[in-house]
Amino acid sequence: MNDPFDFDRLIDRVSKKINDSLSSLFSSYKLGEVLEVIHGSRKIHVRVIYGKKCRKSVLSPCDDQDMDYALLVPFNMRSDQVLAALYREIERELSPKLQHIRSRRGGAEVDLNGETVQIQVIRSKRAKSYRASFKDGEVRLTVPTGGTKERGLLWLDENLRALEKWHTEYLRQLQKQKEASSQLSVNRKVTIYGEEHRLVFVNNRRDEGVGAGEIRVCPPKDTNDDKLWETAITRVLKEEIRQYALEQILLKTSSIDDLGIPFSKLIISSAQTRWGSCSVRGIVRLNWRAVFLPKDVIDYLICHELAHLKHMNHSKNFWARVEMYCPNYREFERKLKGYSISHSVL
Ligand SMILES: [Zn+2]
Repeated sequence: MNDPFDFDRLIDRVSKKINDSLSSLFSSYKLGEVLEVIHGSRKIHVRVIYGKKCRKSVLSPCDDQDMDYALLVPFNMRSDQVLAALYREIERELSPKLQHIRSRRGGAEVDLNGETVQIQVIRSKRAKSYRASFKDGEVRLTVPTGGTKERGLLWLDENLRALEKWHTEYLRQLQKQKEASSQLSVNRKVTIYGEEHRLVFVNNRRDEGVGAGEIRVCPPKDTNDDKLWETAITRVLKEEIRQYALEQILLKTSSIDDLGIPFSKLIISSAQTRWGSCSVRGIVRLNWRAVFLPKDVIDYLICHELAHLKHMNHSKNFWARVEMYCPNYREFERKLKGYSISHSVL
């Protein structure tokens, strides 16, 4: 067995285990002598003391002039174990500590604006740095590749004032959404594609859209302004009809051999009097308000405009072409006359 005090012989082997931030300088060590440990930019002086009754290593601060800490270790501890214990205890003692965040096994929490908020740690391969956001009343702490939960929490802890500001803003947004929902509760339903759709408020414009009986819309800055509401909802509906109509056009044109002028592009218009039009350049215009019509009527409108690619008029031949694309066109033409183009969203 090694002489427990012969640090010189072991230093090379053990130093391989040294943490990056922790390097040590040992010259020769004799019992009771003070060791100098370099931790970051600090020099720490530690005396190792063997305790007969001691069962595990304990580092305790000292007021002594030439010594900062005493490390009490079990009497039978090998010297390499003593070194390892020294590194471990110094690291634990000197690593930055959380000031505001309470971290427990399995979770962490912090008090923000007088309420206790849970912190969810999420690992991300794409993240380049630590990030924080709020979701479902919790802080989401994103830890990038190579990062650790501990460092993430420290980062959050150091940025507590900013975090609290974000939290204030988050609460404000929540409140705004609540107000928005109650304000529009009378008009919560909008008929599109001839079916009732419920207005649902989302936080982010990326989450906007139509589907599953819902119109997901990001509320405007001033939720008391009807004009802004109309703009927001119109934005979502225009995008919806653009996607739907383009899909239908591509589907239909791909199955028609003799189209006439090739279809070039779709423009969603806001015309006051026309549902749609078609130009000699193959540009099809469709009024965004078509989104309020039943889908079979929209499909007829599209067939009508596509037939104009072959006949730029409303001649007999034109209607024969319409019938080719849409056999029940008379029924839909009649239906269409029942819809007013000056449709208001709200
Ligand atoms: Zn026409």
